[in-house]
Amino acid sequence: MEKIQDLKKYLNTPRDILITSHRNPDGDAIGSSLGLYHYLANNGHTVRVAFPSEYPSIFAWMPASDRIFIHDIEASTVDKYVDQADLIFCLDYNDLNRIDKMGERIARQKDTLKVMIDHHLYPENFADFMLSDTDASSTCELIYDFIELLGDEKQVNQSIGECLYTGIVTDTGSFRYSTSPKLFRIVGELLNRGVDDVKLQNLIHNNLAPKNLELLGHCLNNRMELLPEYKTGIITLSKEDYEHFDIQRGDTEGIVNYLLMLKDVHVAAFITEQPTIVKISLRSKGKISVQAIARDHFRGGGHLNASGGASYGTLNSTVRKFKELLPQYKDEILAYSPMQPML
Ligand code: 5GP
Ligand code: MN
Repeated sequence: MEKIQDLKKYLNTPRDILITSHRNPDGDAIGSSLGLYHYLANNGHTVRVAFPSEYPSIFAWMPASDRIFIHDIEASTVDKYVDQADLIFCLDYNDLNRIDKMGERIARQKDTLKVMIDHHLYPENFADFMLSDTDASSTCELIYDFIELLGDEKQVNQSIGECLYTGIVTDTGSFRYSTSPKLFRIVGELLNRGVDDVKLQNLIHNNLAPKNLELLGHCLNNRMELLPEYKTGIITLSKEDYEHFDIQRGDTEGIVNYLLMLKDVHVAAFITEQPTIVKISLRSKGKISVQAIARDHFRGGGHLNASGGASYGTLNSTVRKFKELLPQYKDEILAYSPMQPML
């Protein structure tokens, strides 16, 4: 199956559908999954949503978020849904390795139709139908495109709109990057469908507990290191920091972006000590590719300006490794200028 018309015809019959997204799901993973869930469920399909790991509690207000299944918690239930599905959607990831054991099981379902909708660089070729656009702001934007391709944009209601708007806001840093005339047209449509953008921005951004600001203050005051020679900033968090601030899923989201607010920081790294790995989150300005750094040195990937990966050393050795890489990227990093056109 390659053509959208074939898929449209296939969806004319009620199907058993599983929607999946990546580990540590973010606003785009959850928003695209639940937006698509509402659309498909409204069309008479039996639909389930499953993620490898839990989503941040700040998204618990999203319609139908209480119906998401988590593989880490209910492996056998999720496995059953993988096995019985006619059709599996893979959203906001482009390689089955990104969803661990769930991915291994999905890969074994040779006869199950797979649809990938994603905006990350270098997609793997495992799906029967692929909507992969690395210029898209978010997978949520692509879910809107997908519904439009099926000719059903009139079906986008407030619930679908709220889900899609959430992923668009979180993946664009509130419309600061990856925007386009098409995106603003879609957002305009979502507002026409009853999305209250101020309410949603409040739910998404003005919803923190005091410890979140204390943690941010700690990161900026005590854990930030600037390397002027490489126009690079680093923030690190140790296991002790995690305990002291009682850091939960999602609490560190967005901290790395503060470094980019500095005029003389072109590359930002946020390096954190997790139970079994050291995670690295990278951000960049302009044409500097942090995707290449994540891919080539930290077994990761993502987007040109936002990528992540992991290291199996200690926190200190990971920071050292990152710093030792900088000389080879120095020219590229220093070449950035805010006047450089992005297009
Ligand atoms: P974050 O730094 O916010 O965790 O992730 C930034 C971007 O990089 C996201 O689009 C995310 O999907 C991607 N990313 C994060 N960690 C990994 C990883 O370990 N592997 C790959 N392939 N992509 C990652
Ligand atoms: Mn995304």
